[in-house]
Amino acid sequence: MTSLTRADWEQRANDLKIEGRAYIQGEYTAAASGATFDCISPVDGRVLGQVASCDSADAERAVAAARAAFESGAWSRLAPAKRKKVMIRFAELIQQHGEELALLETLDMGKPISDALAIDVNSAANSIRWSGEAIDKVYDEVAATPHNELGLVTREAIGVVAAIVPWNFPLLMSCWKLGPALATGNSVILKPSEKSPLTAIRIAQLATEAGIPNGVFNVLPGYGHTVGKALALHMDVDCLVFTGSTKIAKQLMIYAGESNMKRVWLEAGGKSPNIVFADAPDLKAAAEAAAGAIAFNQGEVCTAGSRLLVEKSIKDQFLPLVIEALKGWKPGNPLDPATNVGALVDTQQMNTVLSYIEAGHADGAKLVAGGKRTLEETGGVYVEPTIFDGVSNAMKIAREEIFGPVLSVIEFETAEEAVRIANDTPYGLAAAVWTSNISKAHLTAKALRAGSVWVNQYDGGDMTAPFGGFKQSGNGRDKSLHAFDKYTELKATWIKL
Ligand code: NAD
Repeated sequence: MTSLTRADWEQRANDLKIEGRAYIQGEYTAAASGATFDCISPVDGRVLGQVASCDSADAERAVAAARAAFESGAWSRLAPAKRKKVMIRFAELIQQHGEELALLETLDMGKPISDALAIDVNSAANSIRWSGEAIDKVYDEVAATPHNELGLVTREAIGVVAAIVPWNFPLLMSCWKLGPALATGNSVILKPSEKSPLTAIRIAQLATEAGIPNGVFNVLPGYGHTVGKALALHMDVDCLVFTGSTKIAKQLMIYAGESNMKRVWLEAGGKSPNIVFADAPDLKAAAEAAAGAIAFNQGEVCTAGSRLLVEKSIKDQFLPLVIEALKGWKPGNPLDPATNVGALVDTQQMNTVLSYIEAGHADGAKLVAGGKRTLEETGGVYVEPTIFDGVSNAMKIAREEIFGPVLSVIEFETAEEAVRIANDTPYGLAAAVWTSNISKAHLTAKALRAGSVWVNQYDGGDMTAPFGGFKQSGNGRDKSLHAFDKYTELKATWIKL
């Protein structure tokens, strides 16, 4: 929790100088076309500044800079222990500029300032630090060869990496890519979402200050269909890493196939089940977690617990606890440190969320909490955390990712039925199970087709745990040493002695 008040943050917001230009070869630069777009705050509808609208000409410039930097070896051939030092310094600078970065994030995409500071900034810095600290502790392999041969199995940097990221955790998703990509010696071009470019633009300069050589880290703000597409189709980008929707993830695989077969690693959408059995150890704790799982970050979370599966025998007891817990999640001005639900990212996203609420009504689900736009007088875009009871898994609100604070409550009678419903989705990002029976916990966890499974909690894990999806939630993993695999090629060097 910060000691700054809402008035302090508002004062700082007024004093902010917003940098909206691209960052190529160690300096800020306008888009080659000179084009810009308005950066609008969802907090109150204010125009924060102008952001460079990059396109293929800028992609050319950035890829050339990244390639030249990679070939120079200034970073790619630096001893891992030296890269480590620079990465740790980069993490420290992110932390030192934490208040400024948190403010930019909140103004840009609407999340509560307390979360931006305590979660986004800290976790982003930690991701960079953790990857940096690890890089001089990972070893390659020596194969089991005959006596007169030596087989080396080594991992080497892949080259030029383009990272395309979303707007829900703009800084954090960027750093989940930057940490392992930079630590392993690659050059990176980061393409933030057009809805939230400000923190990515700001940290580019911090990277330079930390000692990352020019051209190794570039940032191209702009739209997906312009600069994003140009990077994805580029013949000299070796690896494309992405976090965002499943729809765009699929498109990126096509772009790779149409161009140079660049490696494509995708972290996409989710529709995660949160299963509460009658023998959950603490129903109140489960209810509080269920409320947080849909209201945190305005429900704009890939792992949002958007399908709450509740065993029939406790439904009447449990649902009121969830409704009560959700009352603690109230939309408010995100610059107020006491606020725990901020603004949605923009009007378009708000309309999407409201249209799903309409679909819930139309399909016959029963609204038991929220359901409306709120705080309209602020000029910002806010939606009440919402619960629908009586949802069947076939309904639109249970099948599609809403990416907003809308919870579907689905009843089940047996563990088999719970698992069947939980897995009946094209997604497979995360799932949670609440039970005090250890065998049931393990058997259910094994049966769930999801990249992360949490038992008696929601959203566990830290940098040591790989994060990513089964099925149409993606491939590859962010975080942990497993993430390094995405940014390296495996080489076998066989020597006759
Ligand atoms: P999105 O797919 O619309 O956009 C993501 C990024 O892709 C943006 O930078 C966008 O500009 C770019 N893009 C769009 N069209 C493109 C194109 N044709 N070519 C290249 N780039 C293009 O997603 P979003 O709305 O920004 O983010 C929300 C989505 O992100 C949700 O589905 C959410 O589940 C997912 N997400 C997943 C994870 C995870 O780790 N699995 C984490 C956070 C968010």
